[in-house]
Amino acid sequence: NIMFIRGFMILFLSCITIRLNFSISTIPSSLKTLPLEGHLSFAEADLKHAARDFGNRYQSHPMAVLHPKSVSDIAATIKHVWNLGPSSHLTIAARGHGHSLHGQAQAHGGVVINMESIKVPQMQVYSGEFPYVDVSGGELWVNILHETLRFGLAPRSWTDYLHLTVGGTLSNAGVSGQAFRHGPQISNVQKLEVVTGTGEVVNCSDEKNGELFYSVLGGLGQFGIITRARIFLEPAPTMVKWIRVLYADFTAFTRDQEQLIFSQKAFDYIEGFVIINRTGLLNNWRLSFNPQDPVEASLLSRTGQILQSGRKLCSKSEVEKHLTHLNYIPSTLFQTEVTYVDFLDRVHITEVKLRSKGLWDIPHPWLNLFIPQSKIQKFAKEVFGNIVRETSNGPVLIYPVNKSKWDNRTSVVTPEEDIFYLVAFLASAIPSSNGPDGLEHILSQNKRILEYCERAQLGVKQYLAHYTTQEQWRVHFGPQWEIFQQRKSVYDPLAILAPGQGIFPKSI
Ligand code: FAD
Repeated sequence: NIMFIRGFMILFLSCITIRLNFSISTIPSSLKTLPLEGHLSFAEADLKHAARDFGNRYQSHPMAVLHPKSVSDIAATIKHVWNLGPSSHLTIAARGHGHSLHGQAQAHGGVVINMESIKVPQMQVYSGEFPYVDVSGGELWVNILHETLRFGLAPRSWTDYLHLTVGGTLSNAGVSGQAFRHGPQISNVQKLEVVTGTGEVVNCSDEKNGELFYSVLGGLGQFGIITRARIFLEPAPTMVKWIRVLYADFTAFTRDQEQLIFSQKAFDYIEGFVIINRTGLLNNWRLSFNPQDPVEASLLSRTGQILQSGRKLCSKSEVEKHLTHLNYIPSTLFQTEVTYVDFLDRVHITEVKLRSKGLWDIPHPWLNLFIPQSKIQKFAKEVFGNIVRETSNGPVLIYPVNKSKWDNRTSVVTPEEDIFYLVAFLASAIPSSNGPDGLEHILSQNKRILEYCERAQLGVKQYLAHYTTQEQWRVHFGPQWEIFQQRKSVYDPLAILAPGQGIFPKSI
């Protein structure tokens, strides 16, 4: 590694001498001369689109948008910027589906790469003993679901919403109700093709270029652009049983959730929601019934016809057997059977509804936290007892995951304990409202939650975090900061990539 870095240092210096006279205004024409299979767009509509994201709060206009047709287009663009050297301020952001919250996929005055335009490799499913699918980094998970189901297979680990790209979720973690068993999506990848911050195209896996492989997983786009991924698959059910029950007692609720994630065979998916005085317009997100109070658990189990693998499936009586061990309010048991696609793509149904009411493209001041198991009761007492008065602005998710399913060689940061909870405050802010559903109110509530976690020293880590200073990032990464920084100096030494994360200023 030392040799590697030294090599870069020499290159670095020669770039300074040759390229010192570059000014930002001459860069577009030099970009325009790049031989590309796809194209660079400087059109206002494209720039505007690339300056927005789901969070709807941050907007940074790029100078150009690349619509690549091949990996070489991406490599050539990065290499071009790399060759401009440290005197150039040009940065590059991969944009998946733009569902970040704080401008993470934006590049102020730089180049945004529209990853969805790259259609190579074509999705290819291998359905042998250890099935997998090869996909492009810009592929949407929903498309992967439909393609793999044609073979009776599907990825093992999901996010709650499928209209996100592979590169986008693998740069974070990709967590949902299957993570307790399979780990997050970053634990379900066999290999990647990555274009580093020097424009080099590298294939990596656990066995080959392992350092880059683990850097990129959960790496917030800092070390390279994922252009291709091999994702593990499993036999997929056609129908699933979806069970929801309600709890009035938080301790009983978490005890049951933890028991279920330990008895790995009971259910395939475990998530929970917190409901407090819920009345608002956004109150039905992800739920088709509206129970009174205050905590709801959502469990999923497979039903009969699913058999593709010979794996044992839960029969009705088995489901009932597992339910008898749980301490929910008996009258609140709600069971339904839906197709696997309808279950996995459930948030999209809500998206369509919210879009029709003009409530999708509004600010989303979300707060996602990983909370150590030993602190979850304390957290709940203060946050659900005193700080959050109602959950009308959007769902509050809460469920435990096993740290043993997370690979500590990846870049993602999690709490110290063996089990930690994902608690996600997924609020939508009504534009121009000054009330409890307005942006200011929700942001100040988030601030109070974070201040409490800090004051009470709960050992919480933010997921999909956003910070404004490098010092805050340093604290976020804790002991992992040094390795994160070192990886950056190797794979993206000029800090060209993913500037919207605000971790490394251009040229560190
Ligand atoms: P973008 O927003 O486009 O990009 C995110 C970051 O990744 C940026 O820094 C970008 O530069 C980088 N990036 C994008 N593509 C690549 C690539 N190919 N290579 C390298 N870097 C890249 N997350 C969960 O874990 N679990 C959930 O259940 C979940 N549910 C969600 C539901 C909704 C409605 C939304 C909006 C988000 C949800 N998320 C969830 C968060 C989501 O996983 C992240 O915001 C993710 O980054 C979005 O993917 P994207 O394709 O839109 O990425």
